[in-house]
Amino acid sequence: MIYRELSHYLKERYGTRVQRVSISYFRTCPNRDGTAGFGGCTFCEETGSGFGNKFRNLDVRAQILEGMKIARQKYKAEKFMAYFQSFTNTYGPLEELEKVYNEALVEGVVALDISTRPDAFSEEIAVLLKKISDERHVDIFIEFGLESINENTLSYVNRGHSVGEFIDAVLRAKRYNFEVIAHVILDLPTDTIEDEIGCAKILSALRVNGVKMHSLYIVKGTKMGIDYLEGRLKPFGADEYIKRARAFLSYLDPSIVIHRIISTPPQNALYSIGLTYTDAKKLIEEEMMKNSEYQGVKFDYLNGGNWRKKFVERRNSDGLRSDGQRIG
Ligand code: SF4
Repeated sequence: MIYRELSHYLKERYGTRVQRVSISYFRTCPNRDGTAGFGGCTFCEETGSGFGNKFRNLDVRAQILEGMKIARQKYKAEKFMAYFQSFTNTYGPLEELEKVYNEALVEGVVALDISTRPDAFSEEIAVLLKKISDERHVDIFIEFGLESINENTLSYVNRGHSVGEFIDAVLRAKRYNFEVIAHVILDLPTDTIEDEIGCAKILSALRVNGVKMHSLYIVKGTKMGIDYLEGRLKPFGADEYIKRARAFLSYLDPSIVIHRIISTPPQNALYSIGLTYTDAKKLIEEEMMKNSEYQGVKFDYLNGGNWRKKFVERRNSDGLRSDGQRIG
């Protein structure tokens, strides 16, 4: 296997196919209502990434039941994750959060999967999620949007938080043993390939459990859409995305689960890398295979990587122990 795929991981963990069912409930985020900023991230479309959920106007219970019905028919799924996807899904009073999360927990749901911003995940929310997890016997997956580790890029996309808030949120969620997933966009126009490699290293050092790799897409009505139409923004294209995805995966801890390998843009996107999910996956895998690459092939930099190379691995390969004595 070239990289650790989510479907395999879920099957190992739950013993059967597990399907995410999207739920839309929250309608804003701190980067739109003025708490962190106005106008939102420059790439964010009006549904806050919830365009794929056709049941988004139903109540939470109805959305999960409808979604599960379809997933049963289409994928023969038996277990489900209640996936709070659009906008910032921890951005509400604690009582409301508790009520809404519990509404999604029907028979067959094995995990709550909550997508949020790192600056909207407090200790109180972690305590609430732990309580729900214990009472309702469900796992907690928490997805934090990071997008880039480059502070200039975070500012360029008007993200409204820095890398510091992301690190704080990850460390907090890890203390509660939640499954932590980071979202990254690997081809933001102000990022270089070195930023993506640095991102893989930081996520590995933080021991996140999963990563959603996104390719940039641009939709009408966004700041990026205007810049793109007026020629101020030139996206990199598919080849560069594939190059960056290979580099990112090569440096990423091989135990981290890959939840996505590209974005799935809406049909009316002004720009996307122009590949289907299946084609992009195939291309990335083929290129990696051709170049003897796989997830973690360059994951040798933590735990005193260079000290280890000089004083442990070389001695082992010379048949010497780390104390200089010959082995055997
Ligand atoms: S991407 Fe998330 S944080 Fe940014 S504006 Fe959209 S909903 Fe808000």
